[in-house]
Amino acid sequence: MLILVINCGSSSAKYDLFDITKGSSDIGRGVVERIGEEVSILRYTSKGNPEVETEVRCFDHHGAIEIIKETLMDKEIGVLNDLKDVAGVGHRVVHGGEEFNKSTTITDEVIESIEKFSELAPLHNPPSLEGIRSCMKILEGVPQVAVFDTAFHQTMEERTFCYGVPYELYKKYGIRRYGFHGTSHRFVSLKAAEVLGKPVSDVNVITAHLGNGCSMAAIRGGKSVDTSMGFTPLEGLLMGTRSGDIDPAVVTFLMQRENLGPEEINDLLNKKSGLLGVSGISNDMRDILKARKEGNKRAKLAYDMFVYRIKKYIGAYTAVLGSVDAVVFTAGIGEKVAEIRDSIEKDLRFLSAGGTEFLTISTNEEFLIAQDTYKIVNDITNGGEGSAIKGIAAWINKIKFLIRKKQNKDK
Ligand code: ADP
Repeated sequence: MLILVINCGSSSAKYDLFDITKGSSDIGRGVVERIGEEVSILRYTSKGNPEVETEVRCFDHHGAIEIIKETLMDKEIGVLNDLKDVAGVGHRVVHGGEEFNKSTTITDEVIESIEKFSELAPLHNPPSLEGIRSCMKILEGVPQVAVFDTAFHQTMEERTFCYGVPYELYKKYGIRRYGFHGTSHRFVSLKAAEVLGKPVSDVNVITAHLGNGCSMAAIRGGKSVDTSMGFTPLEGLLMGTRSGDIDPAVVTFLMQRENLGPEEINDLLNKKSGLLGVSGISNDMRDILKARKEGNKRAKLAYDMFVYRIKKYIGAYTAVLGSVDAVVFTAGIGEKVAEIRDSIEKDLRFLSAGGTEFLTISTNEEFLIAQDTYKIVNDITNGGEGSAIKGIAAWINKIKFLIRKKQNKDK
């Protein structure tokens, strides 16, 4: 069964086609980058061949989905004969707010919710929606599934996700911790249980997703109990260009002293801080490692801050969980930089002495998205367990939605 995974970022659209019933390896994947620029780039691999890079014209995410379709269907390089062979499409959606604690079939109502949460994820949810709408048009009648980054962390308790601001603001604006990278934390925590040879319900793990964006999670028995990213992906660890944790008073101080507006301060904390801002060199860990070895003091400081904060969070999450079966590192930095993993493990000897394993596991969010999509598609097409009830529930929801829409119109 073929499942297509689509992951639309602010200026990119990734795709991955899985023959899901034949295991975890994909049969074709690629990415359209620099969407909206004069020249966009398409990189793809198909049929196990080396990656090819080519220039394309692509004005928006609709254009990117068209290019993906053409690449998949191409007579020479394509891996699809007929679009009808695609049984389902899984979309990565960053923000699902409090409404979604698991992956879900995309309906008009779901689209309306994703639109609503665009306010909380302005760079991420709108491109996902464009991708969803294009796929619904191109692959009409094929089930489309949304897999949310926030869903996995919906198991957090109120005492964990609430901020110390007036409670009414949580109710009024949804100001709370949501957490992100949920699919990655979920994937590596499942894999960790496999490596440890225990059921996931029996293991406590701390996961560290260290890529351009970085976040950690405390996971008890397969459920997220705390995570470092918050209302937005800005909170927590030091990242490539994001500050992570900061005293909020710094924000108002800088706005006054540097005469910055909301957009400028947002830009400063999201795009000019982190490894880049501290080192003054780069947001790329490879450059930081090189400059640090050459004796650059600010590169050393950025590196030390990066590592220190991870250690601090491991300490905090150890206290949260009580006992830790494994600390798991994943994503670009987590998987490739042994130096960081080793120094953390060495400094936290009390953990390994107590039996905690330190693991490196490659994340594969796309595979988990494909699996979730497969399960939902299977349920719909084969009348799997509960599908009749879900069908009725979807039908009732649809009616409720139409009534609400009419009421809104009448207002
Ligand atoms: P994204 O969050 O965009 O998916 P990745 O998971 O690919 O990012 O991680 C990007 C980060 O990983 C960058 O800081 C990059 O420098 C770092 N990285 C990737 N490969 C290496 C490597 N071989 N050595 C050191 N750092 C690496």
